[in-house]
Amino acid sequence: MTAPIAIRRLNAADQDFAKHLDHLLSWESVSDDGVNERVLEIIKAVRERGDAALVEYTQRFDGLSVNSMADLILPRERLELALTRITAEQRQALEVAAERVRSYHEKQKQDSWTYTEADGTVLGQKVTPLDRAGLYVPGGKASYPSSVLMNAIPAKVAGVPEVVMVVPTPRGEINEIVLAAACIAGVDRVFTIGGAQAVAALAYGTESVPPVDKIVGPGNIYVATAKRHVFGKVGIDMIAGPSEILVVCDGQTDPDWIAMDLFSQAEHDEDAQSILLSPDAEFLDKVAASIAKLLPTMEREAIIRTSIETRGALIQVKDMQQAIDVANRIAPEHLELSVADPEAWLPQIRHAGAIFMGRYTAEALGDYCAGPNHVLPTSGTARFSSPLGVYDFQKRSSIIHCSAEGASELGKSASVLARGESLTAHATASRTNGAGAWRPLIAAEFEERRAMSKFWSPFVKDLVPYVPGEQPKLTNLVKLNTNENPYGPSPKTIAAMQAELNDNLRLYPDPNGERLKQAVADYYGVQQAQVFVGNGSDEVLAHAFHGLFQHGKPLLFPDISYSFYPVYCGLYGIPFDAVPLDEQFQIRPEDYAKPNGGIIFPNPNAPTGCVLALDAIEQILQSNPDSVVLVDEAYIDFGGQTAISLVDRYPNLLVAQTLSKSRSLAGLRVGFAVGHPDLIEALERIKNSFNSYPLDRAAIAGAAAAFEDKAYFEQTRQAVIDSREKLVAEMTGLGFEVLPSGANFIFARHPEKDAATLAAGLREHGVIVRHFKQARIAQFLRITIGNPAQNQALVDALRTL
Ligand code: PMP
Repeated sequence: MTAPIAIRRLNAADQDFAKHLDHLLSWESVSDDGVNERVLEIIKAVRERGDAALVEYTQRFDGLSVNSMADLILPRERLELALTRITAEQRQALEVAAERVRSYHEKQKQDSWTYTEADGTVLGQKVTPLDRAGLYVPGGKASYPSSVLMNAIPAKVAGVPEVVMVVPTPRGEINEIVLAAACIAGVDRVFTIGGAQAVAALAYGTESVPPVDKIVGPGNIYVATAKRHVFGKVGIDMIAGPSEILVVCDGQTDPDWIAMDLFSQAEHDEDAQSILLSPDAEFLDKVAASIAKLLPTMEREAIIRTSIETRGALIQVKDMQQAIDVANRIAPEHLELSVADPEAWLPQIRHAGAIFMGRYTAEALGDYCAGPNHVLPTSGTARFSSPLGVYDFQKRSSIIHCSAEGASELGKSASVLARGESLTAHATASRTNGAGAWRPLIAAEFEERRAMSKFWSPFVKDLVPYVPGEQPKLTNLVKLNTNENPYGPSPKTIAAMQAELNDNLRLYPDPNGERLKQAVADYYGVQQAQVFVGNGSDEVLAHAFHGLFQHGKPLLFPDISYSFYPVYCGLYGIPFDAVPLDEQFQIRPEDYAKPNGGIIFPNPNAPTGCVLALDAIEQILQSNPDSVVLVDEAYIDFGGQTAISLVDRYPNLLVAQTLSKSRSLAGLRVGFAVGHPDLIEALERIKNSFNSYPLDRAAIAGAAAAFEDKAYFEQTRQAVIDSREKLVAEMTGLGFEVLPSGANFIFARHPEKDAATLAAGLREHGVIVRHFKQARIAQFLRITIGNPAQNQALVDALRTL
C-alpha cells in the first residue's frame, strides 16, 4: 500500500495568498558557488588546452577510456547507421514529428525588407542566418530525441549552414534514437562530449571542435552554469528552469485527464511544477482523488510524488476571470485552458510559453509532434521571452542607403545632434553626402581639428579642405607629383611680366583683366564677353559652384575625378552624387541623364587621364538642357578636343581652362572660363562680390603674352606629348598597365606590385609621384610627365623596385 499523497491546497481568497503563491513559484536557477567555481575552472582549461582538456574531462566525468579527440567524433555516416538500428515504428514517428516541426517553423521565417523614401533614400533590414549553431543534448537516460528535432530543425529552417551537436555518452552509452533524430534533423557534426567542457568547447573552439555563434539546448546545472558564463562570447537560448504546467479548468473536464496532465509534467523531474486552477472546489477534490488513485499506476511514481508534494498545488479561484489573472501572474511555460470556450479567454492571456486550448489538447502532444517548439520559457520568463524558433537562429542588420538629397537633409540634423554631444568627428562624417571621394579627406581634417580654436565659426569647424599635392622644400627631387610642366614659360611671358614691374604697381590692375580676356578670345575665336578670368582655374571653378550650380539638387561628377569638387560642395552646401566611372574608368554619358543641379567633369579626366570625345559631351549637354555642364579642361592641350567649339550652340556649357599646365604658369595662378555671356555674367557677379582684382598686373600681362606666343606653346606641348608616349612604352615594357592618357600625366598600376609600396620606394630614389588612398584606384600611381632626364630617372628607379 502506497502512502497517501499530500497536495498543497491554496485559495486565492485567502489573505496571504500572494505570499504563498510567491513561495510556491520561487526558483533559484544556477546559484551554487561550488558549481560556479568548478565550471570556471573547466572553461579555463578548455580555452587553454583545447582537445587535451576535453579528452581528460570526458575520461573523468563520463567514465570513458578514450585516447584522443578522434574517439569523440561521430561522422555523419554514424548518424545514418543509427537510422538503420532503430525500429521502423520509431523511425516513422521521428519522421512524422520532424516534418510537422519543420512545416510549423517554415512559417516563422522572416524576410529582409526595405522601403524607399520620397528622396530616394532606402532603409531596411537584412535578415541573415547565424554561421554555425551548437546544440547541447543531455546524455544517457535524460536525453530526448524530440529535443534534438526541436533545437536543430529551426536552425536548419533559418538557413544555418552548420549545426554542431554535442552529446555525452556516459560509460559509453549511446542513444541510437538521439543519433537517428540528429540524422533526420540535418545535424552536420556530432561530438560525444558533454558538461561544462562541451559548452566551453562550443563557445571557444578547440583544435577539433569548431566555435559556434549560439549554443542551444537543455542540460544539468553544470551545463546551465557554463552557458551563463560563455554568454556574450556566444549567444545562448536561455537558462531553463524545471518544466512547469498550469492547468486552468472550469470543472467540466474528466478529473482523471487533468490528473494525468499534471503527472506528465511532474514525471520530468522532482523539481518540475504542476498547478491546477479552478473556481470549482468540488472539482479540485475530485482531481485530488484522481491523483491519489492514478499515482500508484505510474512508472515514475516516485519522481511524480516528490514533484507534486514539494512544488505542486491545487488552487481555488473565485471565477474564471481570477483564474486568468493568476495565470498571467505565474506566466507558465505550458498553460492548458481546459474549458468550454478557450477562444473566449485567449485574448486575455498575456504571458505563457505555449497555450493548449480545450479539453482534448493534452500538453504531451505539444512535447512531441504537434509542430510548435517544446523549448519554452520557464520560471515566469514568458513575461519577456518566447518559444525557441527560427528567429533565434537569424539576426538582423539595418540597411541605410542615403540618396544624395537624403544624405544632405539627414546630415543637417545629424551634424547638429553630434555637435550637441561634442562628437565633432560624427558631425563632419554626417556631412559627407554619401560619396566616397570625400572620405579620404576626413583623416586630414582630424589632424587639423587638433588645432581647432574656440574662435572658429561653426561653419569653419565643419569644413573639410582640399589637400594640395606636396610641394617639397628639397630641390634635388624629381618632382612628378603635381602635373606641372617640365619646361619653363615662354620668354615672351617673362618679358611681358618684367615690363609691368614699375611704378604702376602702386595702381590697381584692370579688375576685368581685359587684355587677357581678349588674348583668350582671339586664340579661340570667341567674343570677349564669353570669357571670364580668375586666379587659377580653381578660383574660376569655385565661382561656378557658387553661382551656377543649383544648390537644392545634387551636382553630378565622376566618382573618380578632381578631389576639389566635393570640397567646393562642402564650402557652398551643394549636395552631390558621385557617378561611378565604368570598368575601364570611362565616363558613360547616359549615366548623366538623371535629375541634377549641375554637372562637372574634367576632360581629360584627372587622375585617370582618359579623354571624353566631343560627341559624348554633346550627348550630356543635350540630355541636360536645364543644368550647367562644366567641362574642366585643365589638361586639354595634351590630348582631346576642346569643347569651346560648342559654346555657341549650348548656352548651358561652360568650359574652364588653366595656364598652369600647358602654358607652364602654375606659379602665376591664372585660369579662365569660356561660355555663354549670361554664364560669364554670373561669374562676374560672384567675383565682384568676393575679390574684384583677382589678377595682378604682372599676371594679366604674362598670361596674355603666353597666349600670343603660339610657337613656343606648340613646341613645349609637343615635347611633353612625345615624352608621354615614350614613357608609356617603357612602363608597359616593365609590366605596368597604363590607362590611355590625353594629359601631361599617366595613371598606371602594376599587376603584382603594391602602389603605396612603389610610391614609397620611388621616394627613396628621389622621385615623387602621386598615390591616392581611394577606393578603386588605390593600386594606381599618377605620374606627371617630366623632361627626358626626369622620365629616365623614374624608369631607372622603377626597374630596381
Ligand atoms: N582642374 C583639374 C582637373 C586639376 O587637376 C587642376 C589642378 N590641380 C585644376 C583644375 C586647377 O588648376 P589651377 O588652379 O592651377 O588652374
